[in-house]
Amino acid sequence: MASEIPESILIIGAGVFGLSTADALSRDPDYKDTKITLVERHSFPAPDGASIDTSRIIRADYADPAYASLALAAQEQWRGDFGADGRYHESSLGLTADPGKEDYVAKSLENVLALEELAKTTSGGGSIKPIRVLDSPEEITSVTRTGGSSGTHGYLNPNSGWADAEASMRYLYNRVRATNRITFVTASVTRLLFSSGPVPRVLGALLADGSRLTASLTILAAGAWTPSLLDLRGVLRATGQILAYIPLTEQEQAHLAQTPVQLNMSSGMFIIPPPPPTSSTPSPEALERGVPRPHAFLKVARHGHGYSNPVTIPYPEPPREGERQEKTITISLPQTSPSTAYASQAIPSEGTTACRTALRSFLSPSSPIPSRPFTHTRLCHYADTRSGDFILSFHPAYAKSLFVASGGNGHAFKFLPVIGERVVECLRGRCPAEFREKWAWPGWVEEGKWEGDGSRGGAKGMVLEEEMRREKGKL
Ligand SMILES: Cc1cc2nc3c(=O)[nH]c(=O)nc-3n(C[C@H](O)[C@H](O)[C@H](O)COP(=O)(O)OP(=O)(O)OC[C@H]3O[C@@H](n4cnc5c(N)ncnc54)[C@H](O)[C@@H]3O)c2cc1C
Repeated sequence: MASEIPESILIIGAGVFGLSTADALSRDPDYKDTKITLVERHSFPAPDGASIDTSRIIRADYADPAYASLALAAQEQWRGDFGADGRYHESSLGLTADPGKEDYVAKSLENVLALEELAKTTSGGGSIKPIRVLDSPEEITSVTRTGGSSGTHGYLNPNSGWADAEASMRYLYNRVRATNRITFVTASVTRLLFSSGPVPRVLGALLADGSRLTASLTILAAGAWTPSLLDLRGVLRATGQILAYIPLTEQEQAHLAQTPVQLNMSSGMFIIPPPPPTSSTPSPEALERGVPRPHAFLKVARHGHGYSNPVTIPYPEPPREGERQEKTITISLPQTSPSTAYASQAIPSEGTTACRTALRSFLSPSSPIPSRPFTHTRLCHYADTRSGDFILSFHPAYAKSLFVASGGNGHAFKFLPVIGERVVECLRGRCPAEFREKWAWPGWVEEGKWEGDGSRGGAKGMVLEEEMRREKGKL
């Protein structure tokens, strides 16, 4: 048993995967003698990281029963200390669709109804509220209370909601720091260090200042930047997703705070309500970054196929025996503006139009909100895999010296309270049976043939530079 515990571990990236892994390792007595270092390219929290934002949907509404029950386990923690102090809001989720997307909605409904039944038998169902099926736009309007209706059918799940993403990440960060078990380093990893020989090992990481961090085990959790450090063509790629914030009056904020998250599975568009005005006192961190009222916005975004951003980089790995060494590879990587407030940046006008159109359907046709200028827009990046599954696996080429914890695919945030423990289980060869295949190292599949998990909306195949050129983003 002791021999599987490495002397030292280097975690790259302090997002959901990296930080929750550090948390799980710091609490696990088996790792009490292991030296653990976490390196992150920004001082925490990374402004352009996928895990840092005002809000993320917390739902067990999945077409896949394995993710639905893992999300339920996470939700139990969101309802406790993890979500305390306004970090979690159980505002309900209206999950809807237009004709043609019946399948995902029906499977998701089936899973949440099954979870509802299970909760009734295991916990008496005290805190479980009944799910309401919605068969027409009128029924949708009656539950959203925003006067709008997006989609023709769906359901309202009062057991889902949203979390303040940045506040939750700060909560976990402080909890991990308080253990004094992890050495935090702020530095950018420029490449992994490899040993030579027929079976190379990863020895750690080379940093931008030329120094090295070495470890017996490296855990790569660099989110959508993961493909900058390994050749992950056909395995993992970054896609940019649109986010926009529109300002609200205090009265609008007070009203919308009482309304559900609305997610249309056909367009992929969703809105996340603000918290009530009483909890919108600016945090010292927000004031520091020049954002006066961080929550007095309505957030609109798209869970879509996203934009790719092809970039050519030097080949990041050593040559493999018998293979011709390529000098460079072209892969999709994030394009962000970390030095601006809330990492704000222009997005393609196709995206701003989609956000406005969505607001017009989610809100009442007479609402003045959709016509206002956006306060800020941003691209937030998914680390996408072909099936929508995470990768929690050793890299097959490096003799168990490199573990990859990535592939959030736009849905990992809700698992923040539980995913670190699953990472450690997979590291120890004890991956939960229902996830063993899903989280295993995926084989190469040509990117044009990735099947996805059926949850994405919007157009396929958009390239960021082309969309930006089409017409400069108008706000
Ligand atoms: C627009 C958007 C909406 C989403 N909505 C939801 C939602 O509603 N519900 C939900 O559950 N999930 C949602 N997600 C998904 C969820 O936020 C992500 O799956 C999750 O945050 C990914 O975490 P991560 O650790 O992989 O990546 P990140 O949070 O991006 O963390 C990676 C970290 O690695 C660091 N890093 C990168 N390269 C280097 C390097 N070379 N050296 C050192 N450090 C490095 C980065 O700075 C970053 O902090 C959404 C994601 C996006 C983008």
